[in-house]
Amino acid sequence: MIDPRMPESDQSRHAGPDECLRCGSTLQSMGVEQFRVGGTSGGWKLLFGEWAELGEGMIKLEVRACPTCAHVEFRVPPPG
Ligand SMILES: [Zn+2]
Repeated sequence: MIDPRMPESDQSRHAGPDECLRCGSTLQSMGVEQFRVGGTSGGWKLLFGEWAELGEGMIKLEVRACPTCAHVEFRVPPPG
């Protein structure tokens, strides 16, 4: 499934929601983890806006790992 011609900047065109952006393998969910987002990490606000302010500085992200190349990806877990 690896296409060496595909530039990294073009990855979103082919990658499905459960595909590794690097090698195209199916990402394995490692479960939902809570991450602390302190007031000093402004990057989270850039990503999530006011949503990052909820939960008293904690944010839940689903961790997904690629079994082939060990690429790790985070995403906002589905509601519920
Ligand atoms: Zn991979």
